[in-house]
Amino acid sequence: MTEMLDATHVDAFAEKLDGGVTRPTDTDYDEVRALYNAMIDKRPALIARCADKDDVVAAVNFGREQGLDIAIRCGGHNGPGLGSVDKGLVIDLSGLKSITVDPDARIATIGGGCLAGDVDAATHEHGLATPVGIISTTGASGLILGGGIGHLSRKCGLSIDNILGAEVVLADGSVVNADESENDDLYWAIRGGGGNFGVVTQLTMQLHPISMVVAGPMFWELERTGDILRWYRDFIRNAPEDLNGFFAFASVPPAPMFPEKLHLQKVAAVVWCWTGPEQGAADALAEARAQDGLLLDGVQPMPLPVLNSAFDDVYPAGDQWYWRADFVETIPDEAVELHAEWGAKMPTWKSTMHMYPIDGAAHRAGPNDTAWAYRNANWGSVMAGVDPDPANAEAIGAWSRGYHEALHPYSAGGAYVNMMMEEGQDRVEAAYGKNYARLAKIKAKYDPDNLFHVNQNIRPAA
Ligand SMILES: Cc1cc2nc3c(=O)[nH]c(=O)nc-3n(C[C@H](O)[C@H](O)[C@H](O)COP(=O)(O)OP(=O)(O)OC[C@H]3O[C@@H](n4cnc5c(N)ncnc54)[C@H](O)[C@@H]3O)c2cc1C
Repeated sequence: MTEMLDATHVDAFAEKLDGGVTRPTDTDYDEVRALYNAMIDKRPALIARCADKDDVVAAVNFGREQGLDIAIRCGGHNGPGLGSVDKGLVIDLSGLKSITVDPDARIATIGGGCLAGDVDAATHEHGLATPVGIISTTGASGLILGGGIGHLSRKCGLSIDNILGAEVVLADGSVVNADESENDDLYWAIRGGGGNFGVVTQLTMQLHPISMVVAGPMFWELERTGDILRWYRDFIRNAPEDLNGFFAFASVPPAPMFPEKLHLQKVAAVVWCWTGPEQGAADALAEARAQDGLLLDGVQPMPLPVLNSAFDDVYPAGDQWYWRADFVETIPDEAVELHAEWGAKMPTWKSTMHMYPIDGAAHRAGPNDTAWAYRNANWGSVMAGVDPDPANAEAIGAWSRGYHEALHPYSAGGAYVNMMMEEGQDRVEAAYGKNYARLAKIKAKYDPDNLFHVNQNIRPAA
C-alpha cells in the first residue's frame, strides 16, 4: 500500500465489498495482479475484487475520493496492460460472472466480468451465439466495448453492433442504463469507446442462431504468400457473409494435431469459419482448396465454442506480447510484397500477423452510427510479436514495430483500439477519426474529470 492510502480507510472500504480487496501485503497479491501480457508488470496499491454492481459503486467512489488512478479490469488481456495501474486502484470485475439467456427473444445479459468463453458456453447451450473473438480467455466486456472482431464479423457484425444496452457505473458513482431509449449518447459512445465512460457492469447482447460451423485453418507454403494474399484479398471481399476467413502468417504449432513434418514451419494461412448450412461449405471453400501450395486443410465441422478456443493452448497467459495494428481498406500489390517480406521474418514461432475481415455485416452500420469510425475499412491487421522468453522481448517488439512501419503507409490511418499498445494521443485520436470530437464531448458530460483515464484515453472536451 502506498503512503497515500490510510489503512483505516482501506479497512472500511474492504468491509463494504462482498468480493473483498487484495493488498500488496497479501500472499496472493502477485497472482491476482498478474496480467495476461507478461511484458507488463504493474503494482497497484489495491485491487477491489468486486462481486456485484454495489461493490463497483463502492470502488468507484473510494477511488475517486482517495484521488487514486483507477483501472478497470475484466479479462486482463489488454496488450499494454490497461486493466491495471501502478500505485492505483484496480476495479477487478472477474466476480461479475452472471449470464442469463432468453432464447426466445435471442438476447443474453452478461456480467461485466465474463470471459469470451463464458459467453460462448452459455449461449451455445441454446444453439445461439454473439460475436466475442477468437480466444476464449479474453475478457468479453473489454473486447466488446472496444469493438469486437472475430469469426462472426462478416455474418453478425462487430460485437458492438450486437450491444442492445448496458448498465454503467459512472464516475460520480451513479448507475445508469444506456440503450436506444435511455442515455442514447452514452449508448453511442460505449459502442467502441472502451472503458472511457464508466464501468460497465452488465451488457445486453443480441444473439444469432449459430451453433455448428465448418471451420479451421488452411496452411500454404510461405513462398506462395504473394499468390495467396493476392487471391485472398479479392476472394473474401466477394464471398458470402456466411464465410469469414482471416489471413495470417504463423508457424505450425508443435502439437499432435498437426503432422510432425510441418511443426514450426512458417506458413501463410487463412482461418475459415462457415456459418451457412454444412453442405454449402465445400462449394464456398472450393476455390481456396484449389490454390497451389496447400500444405494442410484443417477445415471441419465443429461447435462454435471449439473454434473460439482453438488457439487457447498456443497462447496461454504469461507470454511476452507486443503488437501494432492498423485498419486497411485495400491491399495493393506493393503491400503484398512487403507482407511477404515481413511474414518471413517472424522472430519467434508464436509471432503472427492477422488480417481480420471487417466487411460484410460489419459494413451495415455507418461511420457515425457507433464510435467505430472505420466502416470503410475492410480489414483490421495486427502484427503480434509473442514469445514466452523475456529475453526475446526486444526482438518481438522490433519486428512488430518494423512490420507496422513498413505497412502503415498502406493503411486507412488509425487502428483498432483493442489491438494497440500505448502509442500516444495522436494514435488514439486516429483510432476514432471523425468521431473523436463527439466522443470527447460525451466524455465531458459523463466523466468531466477524466476519472477513467487508464485506457486508450478520450480526453474530455474543454
Ligand atoms: C490472446 C488475445 C486474443 C485476442 N483476440 C481478440 C479477438 O479475437 N477480437 C478482438 O476484438 N480482440 C481481441 N483481442 C484484443 C482484446 O479485445 C483486448 O486485449 C481487450 O482489451 C481485452 O479485454 P479484457 O477485458 O481481457 O482486458 P482488460 O485488460 O481486463 O481490460 C482492458 C480495458 O478494457 C476496459 N474494460 C474492460 N472491461 C470493462 C468494463 N466492464 N467496463 C468498462 N471498461 C472495461 C478498460 O478500459 C480496460 O482498461 C485479443 C487479445 C489477446 C491478448
